[in-house]
Amino acid sequence: MDEIEAPCRCVTMPDIHPFRRLRFWTLKSAGDQGQILVVTCNLCRVTHRYLPDDLMRLCGDMTLDKLLTRFRCDGCSKKYYLRMELHFPNGSEYGSLKLRRLKEIRTVTVPVWTDDVLR
Ligand SMILES: [Zn+2]
Repeated sequence: MDEIEAPCRCVTMPDIHPFRRLRFWTLKSAGDQGQILVVTCNLCRVTHRYLPDDLMRLCGDMTLDKLLTRFRCDGCSKKYYLRMELHFPNGSEYGSLKLRRLKEIRTVTVPVWTDDVLR
């Protein structure tokens, strides 16, 4: 029988370089697998954890390397030092692991001006 390449839910992720891994993994796959996104700023040593579903509400489904470029550190407001990892929560973390949840999405009205003449 030929091998069929199909997404298999029992295999978590191919064991390859983390950055390449992010390129092949989407928010949806992370959410389906019950994974949590862990974003750390290596400069400020600050870590925030996010649920894939929250980020999908905000950005839609996308690969994690693209998603990471949308993040900016609260502390140093830089992108360069941010690293993203996936985390499989274990049983004891339910009810205790701190997460950053999306509280609301606010739409801001931005005026766009242009110079014109009296018509
Ligand atoms: Zn930082």
